[in-house]
Amino acid sequence: MKQFLKSFLKPTEAHPELLSFQCNICGHFNEDIAKKIVKSREEQSCQHCKSSLRMRSVIYALSMELFGKNIILPDFPEDKTVTGIGMSDWEGYAELLSKKLDYTNTYYHQEPKLDITDIIPEQENKYDFIISTDVFEHIPPPVEVAFINAQRLLKPGGVLIFTVPYMNEGITKEHFPDLHDFRIVTHKNKSFLINITKDGEEQVFDDLIFHGGNGFTLEMRIFTKKSLLKELESAKFEHIKIYSDNISKFGIIWQISWAFPIAARKII
Ligand SMILES: [Zn+2]
Repeated sequence: MKQFLKSFLKPTEAHPELLSFQCNICGHFNEDIAKKIVKSREEQSCQHCKSSLRMRSVIYALSMELFGKNIILPDFPEDKTVTGIGMSDWEGYAELLSKKLDYTNTYYHQEPKLDITDIIPEQENKYDFIISTDVFEHIPPPVEVAFINAQRLLKPGGVLIFTVPYMNEGITKEHFPDLHDFRIVTHKNKSFLINITKDGEEQVFDDLIFHGGNGFTLEMRIFTKKSLLKELESAKFEHIKIYSDNISKFGIIWQISWAFPIAARKII
């Protein structure tokens, strides 16, 4: 009986494969969720808003960078003087962010549009924060332009909250280093990338990797940690911080070490 009561009252202690957490995006208290689902970067582990570890870790990093403390999105102060943009952000937090802050989600293919490889001077020095989660691995080369432009978009003191999958060793591997004039064609259910280089040479690639989600999801590169930090530093970002900590009360528990959120600040 005693054992039964213990397991009834504290199910996650009695069942180590389960855990309970509060979602820092919607505030919902999730009980007895399979640990392996919570620890999966992409699985929808909040039963209410369907947030994944990646989404919760982005909001955690944003909270720390904007407010210096770890608060849930429903408790973010309402402050429309804080301006920010997302790059094809997940609607699950984008809508809440736009209620709290002067935040706009932007897209590559639809309004409000943002092409991070081609910004105009009027867009510079405008934002307190930019969220870019799993976007930069899809940007056509040279990717350093996108890092430089992200820095230009920010106000001095503004922060980039950034995720991409990355390897911990080596340097970034570009899949299509000479990309110039390219198109993707499908033949017999197989996709090919046909590229004409700047020198007029035709290249055909058939080993394409597409990620899930909307928009342009062709993987252009596999970043590495070292190359990423170098890109950020070259684009004059400072105070670069990797958010690798586990915040188990918010269901942020890492079993991988290749995609932690990174915060990087523009100082001048
Ligand atoms: Zn949630």
